Amino acid sequence: MRYGIISDIHSNLEALNAVLDRIGQVDAYICLGDIVGYGANPNECCDIIRGLAADSVIGNHDAAALGTLDVSWFNRHARYAVARTSELLSDESRSYLAGMSFTSQTDKYVLAHGSLDNPPDFRYIDDPWMAQPSFKLMPRDMSACFVGHTHLAEQYVQQWGVRGADRISMSAGGRIQLREGFRYIINCGSVGQPRDGNPAAACGVFDTDAGTVEILRVDYDIAAAQKKIRDAGFPLALADRLALGF
Ligand code: ZN
Repeated sequence: MRYGIISDIHSNLEALNAVLDRIGQVDAYICLGDIVGYGANPNECCDIIRGLAADSVIGNHDAAALGTLDVSWFNRHARYAVARTSELLSDESRSYLAGMSFTSQTDKYVLAHGSLDNPPDFRYIDDPWMAQPSFKLMPRDMSACFVGHTHLAEQYVQQWGVRGADRISMSAGGRIQLREGFRYIINCGSVGQPRDGNPAAACGVFDTDAGTVEILRVDYDIAAAQKKIRDAGFPLALADRLALGF
């Protein structure tokens, strides 16, 4: 079974289309949340993800746009983007986002936007210490947990029975071979607003037969996405940062 893995699209339609073209034919899609927020095309992105029938979990920006998350801790630009996104969202998009859960699990993987511990708190896994609670909560026979939220393509690897974990950046893309006796928390990066220094859109392909996760970096029309963000009245900094990858 091959899964296309996408996360943190953030209403960036240009990046989403480029990533789906690159992923090509897969058996199913996984979406790790933050479909909306920051970019100019929230409804178009919701329509595509709904059409893919992706196994999706809700992100903090999705919840914020629905008005179900306190945004007082968001920075100024993010708060503005939430308000503008909320204005743009159709009833159809709202009901789709509202139907998503905080976590999802099959016999092949477990998903959360931020972390498995207290998923509604949307904690960031950005160092091995922060990965520990999620490793503890992974089912015993499960080797793969997928998260998003930090917009950093990277993996955390823990050997069974050993405390601590290794953090390995995947910002340039590459293949992860899942090894027997180890388990993995994998962030395939952000489709629509990468923050790992690489402005190319990020996504993944999880092949359960080969036991691999391929992280892909995909060039897309950044200038077109930036223009739409400016034209839609979002803060200019949200357009500028797309070219920087921060
Ligand atoms: Zn995000």
